[in-house]
Amino acid sequence: MSERVEILGVKVDAVTMAQAVERVTDLICAGKPSIVATANAEMLLRATHDDELKNILNAANLVVPDGAGTVWAARHLGKFMPERVAGFDLVQELMKIAPARDIKFFLFGSAPGIADKAKLKAESLYPGIKIVGTRNGYFKPADEPEIISLIKNSRADILLAALGVPKQEKWLAKYKDELNIPVSIGVGGTFDVMAGVVKRAPLWMQKARLEWLFRAMLQPSRAGRLIALPKFVWNVHKQKKKTNP
Ligand code: UDP
Repeated sequence: MSERVEILGVKVDAVTMAQAVERVTDLICAGKPSIVATANAEMLLRATHDDELKNILNAANLVVPDGAGTVWAARHLGKFMPERVAGFDLVQELMKIAPARDIKFFLFGSAPGIADKAKLKAESLYPGIKIVGTRNGYFKPADEPEIISLIKNSRADILLAALGVPKQEKWLAKYKDELNIPVSIGVGGTFDVMAGVVKRAPLWMQKARLEWLFRAMLQPSRAGRLIALPKFVWNVHKQKKKTNP
């Protein structure tokens, strides 16, 4: 088991990418429905005023440090946090080992057609991978029973849910026992990037911890969400002062 670092009330696992992949494969072997969350600064800030999300994250089987902000916060609080484990990268690492280990995926979420495009991309990048089902993420409550049986009957090992934060975390927590899939992961915009409709930041920007800026430039509708970053930094400073006055 890894150390968990509390950031703004949410416990985040201090894991490397390799350890995160190993934890996910262990959860598949254990077979009980489990939840993996990818915590970036925006999600952690939201959890400070959304108790339902906070409780879901603290009950999750694994919470990986998604984003430079999360890694910075842990280190600023004087804790060990080995590296960033971005949700998108975690999905790619899991897909890479999937054919050899016979790990099956269900892709749930994003606009109509996107999960299918992400499936095709995965099949070309990771030959032999089994994507046993897809479903777009736009639905009414009345459609949920059909979606649940679709996912359940797929007998996937990993359910990737791309409904945005916090909808995906809440949906997975509500239905995980009914779905009976060993591992469910909320993956935000991952299918959009795989399908090629949204670009990932170039490597130099990721390394310079500027991925957030790239996303805001590309999707100006997201720019309003940038306010979360200074708020997050401010809240982490406050937490540090409280613990080390
Ligand atoms: N989405 C969805 N159903 C909804 C709302 C959003 O499937 O009711 C999808 C949306 O199409 C996008 C993803 O959820 O593919 C959210 O992506 P975003 O990059 O905004 O993720 P976040 O930053 O919230 O993790």
